[in-house]
Amino acid sequence: MGLYGLARTEYEQMQAIYRRDGCAICKARDGRGVVDHQHGTKRARGMVCDRCNQGLGFFRDSADICAAAARYLTRGDWRLGTPVLTPTTPADAPTVRTSVK
Ligand SMILES: [Zn+2]
Repeated sequence: MGLYGLARTEYEQMQAIYRRDGCAICKARDGRGVVDHQHGTKRARGMVCDRCNQGLGFFRDSADICAAAARYLTRGDWRLGTPVLTPTTPADAPTVRTSVK
């Protein structure tokens, strides 16, 4: 067993799939592909391009954060759905209310 519990033939199969179908996320065929693994179990999830591999790392390998980022990217103006600070007097601590559509 080699990297992430992969037999050599499994690794070669992943590379063949990457060459044929591209990155498991974005379908790019950049470079040789990187074995992406689940950090807790160290099990290989699939082969991704360098950019997606780094992106997953930047998003802390969190499906919740990635989903939140996807929702965020489809958002329009920053004012929509953004909590609005209510006007306060200087003595008040800032309070937050949800904007009304
Ligand atoms: Zn990719």
